Amino acid sequence: MKKHNFSAGPCILPQEVFQEASQAVLDFNNSGLSILEISHRSKDFVNVMEEARSLSLELLGLKDKGYQALFLQGGASMEFLMVAYNLLEKKAAYLNTGTWAAKALKEAKLFGEVDVIASSEDKGFNYIPKNYKVPTDADYFHCTSNNTIYGTQMKKFPTSSIPLVCDMSSDIFSRQLDFSKFDLIYAGAQKNMGPAGTTLVIIKDGLLGKVSRKIPSMLDYKQHLDKDSMFNTPSVFPVYVSMLTLRWLKALGGIEVIEKENQKKATLLYSEIDINPLFKGYTAQEDRSIMNATFNLTNDSLKEEFDKMCKEAGINGINGHRSVGGYRASMYNALPLESVEVLVDVMSDLERKA
Ligand SMILES: *Cc1c(COP(=O)(O)O)cnc(C)c1O
Repeated sequence: MKKHNFSAGPCILPQEVFQEASQAVLDFNNSGLSILEISHRSKDFVNVMEEARSLSLELLGLKDKGYQALFLQGGASMEFLMVAYNLLEKKAAYLNTGTWAAKALKEAKLFGEVDVIASSEDKGFNYIPKNYKVPTDADYFHCTSNNTIYGTQMKKFPTSSIPLVCDMSSDIFSRQLDFSKFDLIYAGAQKNMGPAGTTLVIIKDGLLGKVSRKIPSMLDYKQHLDKDSMFNTPSVFPVYVSMLTLRWLKALGGIEVIEKENQKKATLLYSEIDINPLFKGYTAQEDRSIMNATFNLTNDSLKEEFDKMCKEAGINGINGHRSVGGYRASMYNALPLESVEVLVDVMSDLERKA
């Protein structure tokens, strides 16, 4: 039976990418060797790394704009500490919009003073704080563009004189933004770009070199930049699959095109959540994420029936995060509109039956 994969991450990737990647496991570029056994220093793989780095910048509109891209390891969680290690001299400002933001600022506290300038913890992180002021005397401001667990998304970013750092793990390449506003962007691949095992980090020229502490090589962005993202053995296969996904996105027409699709999917699902009396959304309407939609049943006694109907329809991965409960439908770039239609049909069928 066809599966509809709403998993929050690792998540659905394009079928074409799965096919090409599986072919490369058997025979990469007609070399007679598997992508899993070639040297990361081979020309074939260096080309992959360079294409992945270049496509990332190109798709974000940052090519030749004074930015460089790295594919590192350790997940977005490693960036929580690397950002602070490399940028925090005295004080940093953080926006606390949920679990991931809180984990990021917890790591930063190991390196200096952390000013949490606004938080939505008072309401279970179901909205994005607004009207906060970014201090001008901090080393950087850190925010999370999309809160994967709660289903909120920042629609606006502050303009400020200090560097802007953003965890875009769960909505990178999904919508158009003025990415040149940001000084450092990072994203674990497994939410919208590729398989687990690599993290994209985009760094603006001139950002580094301002902290006085010594930085261990593996945690030093500069070392990775100097070595063209090949300081040590990179995660060859995840980088390759990310590159294929970025190629797929470029061939589709890039972020501009995928954003329209993502909007369509989100509008369809949120309309059903709003119109169907058996469901209610978790987040403030104006902050709803187009990637992760969180919702609950208004009547918990229908849970068993709804779960059964979802299962029968091939719907996978819509249980809410363990800290929030309810449901979460993640609608990343590769999820077809058809999958959302199937989910919405199940939701309206439940209403008809109940
Ligand atoms: C999943 C996620 C993370 C953690 O990513 P890892 O790669 O597991 O470390 C961090 N931030 C956001 C916004 C996420 O969605």
